[in-house]
Amino acid sequence: MTLNVIKTSNLGYPRIGEKREWKKTLEAYWASTISEKTFYKQMKKYRLHYLQTQIDKKVDLIPVGDFSFYDHVLDTATMFGFVPDRFSYSDGPVSLSTYFSMARGSKDTPACEMTKWFDTNYHFIVPELEERKPALVWNKPLEAFLEAKHELNIIGKPVIIGPFTFLKLSKGYEEQKFESQLKNLAQVYIQLLLELADAGAPIVQIDEPYLVMDLSTEEMTLFSNLYNEITKQVPHLDIIIQTYFEAVSHYKEVVNLPVKGIGLDFVSGLNENVTAIKKYGFPKDKLLGIGIIDGRNIWKSNLEENHRFLTELAAYVPIENQILQPSTSLLHVPVSLEHETELEPIIKKALAFCKEKLDELCLLRDVTVDCNDQNKQSLLKYKQSFEALEKSEWRVKQERPLLPTTRPLSFSDRYHLQQQKWDLPLLPTTTIGSFPQTKEIRQTRFKWRKGELSNEAYESHIYSAIEKWIHIQEELALDVLVHGEFERNDMVEFFGEKLAGFTFSKNGWVQSYGSRCVKPPIIFGNVSFIEPMTLKETAYAQSLTNKPVKGMVTGPVTILNWSFVRNDISNQEVAFQIAEAILKEVQVLEANGITMIQVDEPALREGLPLKEEKHQNYLTWAIEAFRMSTSAVKDTTQVHTHMCYSDFNEIINAIKALDADVISIETSRSHAELIQAFETTVYDKGIGLGVYDIHSPRVPKNEEMLSIIERALSVLPANLFWVNPDCGLKTRGETETVAALKNMVTAAKVARTKIAEKQLSN
Ligand code: GLN
Ligand code: ZN
Repeated sequence: MTLNVIKTSNLGYPRIGEKREWKKTLEAYWASTISEKTFYKQMKKYRLHYLQTQIDKKVDLIPVGDFSFYDHVLDTATMFGFVPDRFSYSDGPVSLSTYFSMARGSKDTPACEMTKWFDTNYHFIVPELEERKPALVWNKPLEAFLEAKHELNIIGKPVIIGPFTFLKLSKGYEEQKFESQLKNLAQVYIQLLLELADAGAPIVQIDEPYLVMDLSTEEMTLFSNLYNEITKQVPHLDIIIQTYFEAVSHYKEVVNLPVKGIGLDFVSGLNENVTAIKKYGFPKDKLLGIGIIDGRNIWKSNLEENHRFLTELAAYVPIENQILQPSTSLLHVPVSLEHETELEPIIKKALAFCKEKLDELCLLRDVTVDCNDQNKQSLLKYKQSFEALEKSEWRVKQERPLLPTTRPLSFSDRYHLQQQKWDLPLLPTTTIGSFPQTKEIRQTRFKWRKGELSNEAYESHIYSAIEKWIHIQEELALDVLVHGEFERNDMVEFFGEKLAGFTFSKNGWVQSYGSRCVKPPIIFGNVSFIEPMTLKETAYAQSLTNKPVKGMVTGPVTILNWSFVRNDISNQEVAFQIAEAILKEVQVLEANGITMIQVDEPALREGLPLKEEKHQNYLTWAIEAFRMSTSAVKDTTQVHTHMCYSDFNEIINAIKALDADVISIETSRSHAELIQAFETTVYDKGIGLGVYDIHSPRVPKNEEMLSIIERALSVLPANLFWVNPDCGLKTRGETETVAALKNMVTAAKVARTKIAEKQLSN
């Protein structure tokens, strides 16, 4: 494909729909309220509508094949017949019901695993290769290409995940087999690409985001060999290798691959990619996909600056070889601002969701093609629209007070004081914070939010749930109680709504996994504490019992990582602002007699950068933020934290550095590995390893939990060990929760007796 003027390209379009109509259709089909035929019909309508939107916006290269019924990684697996044996599949196209069983499980067949797509909040279905040899059973990009051509008369740009990335993200190859499996896979990809070329597709986008990971030289050689082979076999199709989320780790090798174009991320990987271009140049005969519009955040771009950047870049890459595009697929941002009627105008004017980002691309193209006065004026006007927010009082640079990040006493000194104060039994039992949120509670909140229920009526509902569960916990004889978090819909949104600097869109949904969407809060200005956020409910709970009630606050790093964050100052700075606000909440609780306080950081791990060399910097400020929010308390105040993930080894030192008095971690799905980790590292602060998995309604027997406790005690000291479930219980039913906790308390009691007996006999 030859270009004579600058082009715009999109990498992927959100599939959920402006008002989540995709989600609704999907769920209606699962609930059998619509037929398969209607399902297909609706989905096609959405798919074409998304293409039409991009046509109307005059995007030059419009992606096809990025649409999905669930997840594009799952699509790729089913295109090549990678269906695990347990789904009794033999060959041919994978049926819709098998497809959804893989995603969601069916009666007796567990679903495939799900995991995070690089460092985003999008989750994909992990392909399981087993021993299967790939076969092209569904040419999805071809189907999409033909559909766009016939229905809309456009030549779309088919998009697929590349073989290298696909294999790297799959389960079931051994390192030594990687090369041979890659070769097998190359064959089916070649077949797929040949069919595309035959159908008249001039250009294809092959996503290889794995190129931004730390690849070894050997891996990079495999990658080059792979594409040498593919381009040799498929000479008549222009291939663009697309990367995103970071700079590529082997720039020289990547840009010299024998393909037509390379797409780089000029938002997350800006500095490294630019340095590399300046140092090594960029091949004259290649197209450069310039990912310049942020595909992962929601702020307007400074197009004037972008325009200047492109002009400078022209010294290395001539304008006619430049393709303007978002830095990543627009899957990661909400669809459109059109329906946001309630946002503060100054804030709204500074935002750009997917559709508005496509407008940005086209405006940037037009200015680059013809830098006339009128176009320059448009840039200026554009800039003015978001400058209002930048100049607003919400963003006035603030001096932060210097907050302590160390507690006056070391852990071992605090430990003794806290033991005296709390007088807890050995192996104290507790929970992670939330208790089951029944339909009734959710409905009550919904009514209250709509204004159909008074504050008093809503509050009294919440209070009675608290009361009920304080009694249950006393009855169960748990040692440290919680109020249950019934007033919270979401652990970040709840705090965001009460802190200054946050706002919420009405429709700013993004896909998290399958039909599940999240609506991240928007941090638009300086964050600060306004008034107590959790005191009322916690104090009420404490007034009902003599046992300690643990305060429950979401930590600064988690609030940051689960929000859309302003991008005029660093994430670190925003995290510190949140930390200061959270500290105020912690101090309010403390001053009111709540002196055991948990600051949850479940998202600390997921903020870890993709490249190892960047880990330390992130961890340093993330830990500092946590410590800022927890250090300025009395020695006897016991700070707890909670995290949920299984990849524990990687950040054990960071966890130690948090200096929390007690940490609880999710472990039951990977217990063995975790125990191993403690064989080699000494953890010398309070720790609770989840003794049962809250993700399943199963009620584990007390013997089962006892054996987990005992295994943990073989590597961790009993005087520091806590007994708790894996995570919050908000999604569980009441009956199973009570039954499981009852067994948990029994298990702890048996373990205590055994320890006491052992001590006696010594
Ligand atoms: N305190 C929260 C709860 O129990 C923690 C949730 C989480 O770790 N994601 O629900
Ligand atoms: Zn958790």
